[in-house]
Amino acid sequence: MSKLTRCRKCGRKAVIKLKDYRISLCERCYPEFYEQLVERSIRKHKMIKNKEKIIAAISGGKDSVALASVLTKLSEKMQLEVELLYIDLGIKSYSKFLKNIVKKVSNLLDLNLNTVSVKNYGFSIDDTENKKVCSVCGVVKRYLMNKTARELGFDVIATGHTSEDFIEFFFKNTLSGNYELNCKLVPRIDSFDGKIVTKIRPLFDRTEKENMFYVLCKNLPFSTEICPHAPRRDWKEIIYYIELKKPGFKRAFVTNLAKFMRPNIKKDYRYCKLCGEVSNSEICSFCRIINKYSKFNGVSYDV
Ligand code: SF4
Ligand code: ZN
Repeated sequence: MSKLTRCRKCGRKAVIKLKDYRISLCERCYPEFYEQLVERSIRKHKMIKNKEKIIAAISGGKDSVALASVLTKLSEKMQLEVELLYIDLGIKSYSKFLKNIVKKVSNLLDLNLNTVSVKNYGFSIDDTENKKVCSVCGVVKRYLMNKTARELGFDVIATGHTSEDFIEFFFKNTLSGNYELNCKLVPRIDSFDGKIVTKIRPLFDRTEKENMFYVLCKNLPFSTEICPHAPRRDWKEIIYYIELKKPGFKRAFVTNLAKFMRPNIKKDYRYCKLCGEVSNSEICSFCRIINKYSKFNGVSYDV
């Protein structure tokens, strides 16, 4: 960080300089500023409707911990009902470590923690083929998030996707010829079927740095461990360098995505023959994964 100045609000030593907002803030004033930014974005993009029950996905990383904390803070002001959802992927010691952090966060924030374990389906993410592990993991997380949230009676799933995540998805979708997937890069995707829970991304226009400083200033535990299956962070590095050369790039990019992208209203879908969930084909991707990797038949989840 360049030479630190004084906090714009109270004059103490600033710990963060936000170029996009032309403001420097100390560790006591920053959390409030951050919470105001998230609240403003939630209201502007109508992410939450009256009396919707929210379940926030939490992995234990800085972004999801920031999400849990900011929603807790806003729940008082906006009268939100919020709980947490942790998906135990069964990744060696990594998942156990994250679970402990998530438990600490839920205790500190006094939020109910719901857990669903992939092991209850007879496999773990470690059992999947190396090359496909992250795409399998993505399918598993999306499926379990939606099913668990719906069965527990929640209206909305909140995830901690950041502006860097949105930009990375955009580049990857576009370069792989799947441009149409970019229509999902919006702050809120409404349910199109009774089996699908609405998704919101309250941090879509927050950066990883903003989230990191928020959890540090709030003294919240979070994991800095990297998943043993994690791919290289090439896109994150590219995005970092573009921002360095063109300050304001990230914010302008996601603001314009929110302005111009509209989620497709899905019409040509069916229900999986095996599990009954919404699917693009006869058997959904999750059931195909189960068929390939599960050591037993039958499904259950613990909450
Ligand atoms: Fe899943 Fe790890 Fe890949 Fe993330 S990095 S998608 S947690 S396997
Ligand atoms: Zn299925």
